Amino acid sequence: MIKDVFSNRSKNVSPSLTIALTAKANELKSLGVDVISFGVGEPDFNTPENINNSAKEALDKGFTKYTASAGMPQLRQAICNKFLKDNNLVYTPNQIVVSNGAKQSLFNALQLLVDDGDEVIIPSPYWLSYPELVKLCGGKCVYVDTTSTNFKLTPESLSKAITSKTKVLILNTPNNPTGCIYTLEELTALAKVIVRTNVWVISDEIYEKLVYDGAKHYSIASLNSEIYDQTITINGMSKAYAMTGWRVGYLGAPNEKVAKMLDGMQGHETSCTNSIAQYASITALNCDDAFTQKMAKIFDERRHCIFEELKKIDCFDVVFPLGAFYVFVDVRKVYGKKYKDTVIDSANTLSKIILNEKNVVIIPCEGFGAEGFVRLSYATSIERIIDGVERIRDLINQLN
Ligand code: PLP
Repeated sequence: MIKDVFSNRSKNVSPSLTIALTAKANELKSLGVDVISFGVGEPDFNTPENINNSAKEALDKGFTKYTASAGMPQLRQAICNKFLKDNNLVYTPNQIVVSNGAKQSLFNALQLLVDDGDEVIIPSPYWLSYPELVKLCGGKCVYVDTTSTNFKLTPESLSKAITSKTKVLILNTPNNPTGCIYTLEELTALAKVIVRTNVWVISDEIYEKLVYDGAKHYSIASLNSEIYDQTITINGMSKAYAMTGWRVGYLGAPNEKVAKMLDGMQGHETSCTNSIAQYASITALNCDDAFTQKMAKIFDERRHCIFEELKKIDCFDVVFPLGAFYVFVDVRKVYGKKYKDTVIDSANTLSKIILNEKNVVIIPCEGFGAEGFVRLSYATSIERIIDGVERIRDLINQLN
């Protein structure tokens, strides 16, 4: 066996804990165990039939060849229409690059902007892939803790974090894992700081359509032409249309030059996004939002249900989510208690015990920059939510 074959870059990457826990849950399920998973990061709905039919039509028409690497012109036009309608953002098709999921759009954007040693500001808690993608680009993550500011970056904390080496700020609203949403005023205040610098914003808006209680999602790039010029807006089909496995994401670049650079890189990485999935995405974007609204309404009912159920656990501090489909819970009051002989000293330990003893998957958030917190996805039925949280409560009641 050849020793030390792997690059430092690859060795720096931490494997995804979410994927590991999901694998363990699947293993238990295959053994016939009744596992309840609050780990999933995808809607539990089927892709709408009209989108599926459109994919079948693409196959029947023989639409199975490479497309333009930035994406089909008709899809890029549909994305421009969507950006204008939903986000008040004006892009032309030459500013759009379609990728294999928002994740690839994020990676491409970071590859474009980040050189070795460049600093990337990541407000924490954060989606666990951001730091790994930054590290793969040779960048240095600069975390800004937001736990004492309602889990949101403030102009003060942002200003403090910016140095001469800062290249990018990653913003995520609605947020995974906290469910928080930045208001128009908050984004405006952040934009004021950013436009005085050379910092780029990569704005991940993948959960934009899953917002509740009349909250409204705003795209930072839409606030004024200066911030528009410094922002790459990222979105995708996964969450809004229950299309996670189709792998279609996209970005809007501030000008054609930026899009062309991204397109050039992607052409070598993947040639293009799956032609059939692109074809079906046009149908998704061109139809009304009835499916997404129906899905959001069901998520909203589950959100209230899981929040009320979790609140019954005295030593859990539950953050009321305004967006996405996750609920974020501070479990630090459990620390120091014992389950049999095991002292609970981390969210990791607690999650392991809950999985082993109660067959319930919750996600410890150490990998999300929030040790002491867990994340529960409510992309599962009300019955499963009630059963799952009851099992957790049972376990907590057994601690001493
Ligand atoms: N951004 C955030 C915040 C996410 O939570 C996810 C998926 O969980 C993604 C991006 C990736 O989405 P996609 O399936 O389009 O790659």
